[in-house]
Amino acid sequence: MHEVETLLPNEVWNKRLFTGRWEAGECADTAVTSPGNGRQLGLLANAGAAQVERSASQAARAQRDWYALPYDERAKVMRKAAALAEQYQHEIAGWIVEESGSTQPKASFEAAISVKSLHEACALPSRSQGEVLPSTAGRLSIARRRPLGVIGVISPFNFPLYLAMRAVAPALATGNAVVLKPDPRTAVCGGHIIARIFELAGLPAGVLHVLPGGAEAGAALTSSPSVAMIQFTGSTAAGRKVGEAAGRHLKKVSLELGGKNSLIILDDADLDLAIANATWGVYLHQGQICMSTGRVLVQRGIYDAFLQRLVAKARSLTVGDPSTAQVHLGPLINTAQRDNALRIVEAARAAGATLETGGSADGLFFQATVLSGVKRDNPAFNEEIFGPVAVVVPFDSDEEAVALANDTEYGLSAAILSRDTGRALRLGEQLRTGLLHINDQTVNDEVINPFGGVGASGNGASIGGAANWEEFTQWQWLTLKGEAPAYPL
Ligand code: NAD
Repeated sequence: MHEVETLLPNEVWNKRLFTGRWEAGECADTAVTSPGNGRQLGLLANAGAAQVERSASQAARAQRDWYALPYDERAKVMRKAAALAEQYQHEIAGWIVEESGSTQPKASFEAAISVKSLHEACALPSRSQGEVLPSTAGRLSIARRRPLGVIGVISPFNFPLYLAMRAVAPALATGNAVVLKPDPRTAVCGGHIIARIFELAGLPAGVLHVLPGGAEAGAALTSSPSVAMIQFTGSTAAGRKVGEAAGRHLKKVSLELGGKNSLIILDDADLDLAIANATWGVYLHQGQICMSTGRVLVQRGIYDAFLQRLVAKARSLTVGDPSTAQVHLGPLINTAQRDNALRIVEAARAAGATLETGGSADGLFFQATVLSGVKRDNPAFNEEIFGPVAVVVPFDSDEEAVALANDTEYGLSAAILSRDTGRALRLGEQLRTGLLHINDQTVNDEVINPFGGVGASGNGASIGGAANWEEFTQWQWLTLKGEAPAYPL
């Protein structure tokens, strides 16, 4: 086990980014500020377009040697990385709390699930890499999976460590090099922690680069000729731009985007469990999760009782700085995010919705909010809010629930609560989403499941579990004959 006292001391990352060594950024440093308490945690080095290009071409060279290593050498690095991530879980969770405003339980969960994604990646180098195909006599015909080369990973702020790790770990394990561009708002916990883990795990220099930066750095990665694929997780608006640019440069692209996810509560559901599930789905991490429950659809017979209890529950949720207090909700990530949530709540009221509770913010601390009477043409029904706002909508029949849930361009997650699992499954079969949960809420990920959305939630790519082979490798058809045939032409 490694004997450094601190995984990521400030002198390692402060004013530096990672290219195999820690060096200064080409663009101006920016302050790393805790959204929970305003403390400045250090200065972040930011990469410019030229730096991204340099890293991408270095990574392309390093990738060839990395893939040429014996498979168990690559597995050894992955195992060491997993052990380090596990050993320093507490410190890592601390960074997630401070830098991203996560509550302690959310941060601990995120650190643990990131370890799990590393554990899964440890087994990839030693797995079967393809299949032997039937062919003509005397010809050996093999379909084998090969790494793509350099994979550009662009990640968001909300689950910064896990959403980067779920791509970086399998991409490296399958023999690729990676240039990771974390969101500059969470670049330490979503980038430098990963750089440090792999540095200490003995990953050869140049195979992983971590380059914080904004849209300009992301765009440079997308257009670099040295990058074979972009794995992007973020908003649908930015995803469209990344998809367009990747198409122009003929790159493979995986887009994991936003959502407007319905939790459907049927009238035979247990009310206590319905409240517990809706509270978790709507308010976990202040609603800043792609799978957050964006609509709570409640059958008419239990609607009034449900609404009354959800309002009471929302009023009981505490909001504050998660680094010093045990709170249910931490801060939103920044003022832009807060103002957007406030705008939608205001627009919802103007369009006829009732504000049952909440709807205001003290600094970045947004009260748990409940909106009722939300109709289909209401902005709160249609827009992804990314804030702690429950949008509660009644329905009469199962057909109406299906119509309401499918009335969105998004298609990430959906969930149904009912004591009648047959009825719930029949209803669920009609929903257009990449993730579907019966008797659970919408926020779920276990690392080993394929994860991805349809429609405006993604481009059909999936990440996780068996899907990682499709995601991070490409097929090569290889044939072998004892001697070349004498073709008649
Ligand atoms: P965002 O799109 O603003 O930023 C995501 C990343 O993309 C950041 O690193 C950002 O710097 C970069 N970026 C922005 N514009 C870019 C461009 N033109 N070219 C290249 N890179 C660019 O998203 P966000 O606000 O950080 O995250 C919230 C969004 O992400 C929500 O819509 C949420 O639903 C979605 N999300 C989706 C998933 C998923 O797995 N489907 C997971 C988490 C978050």
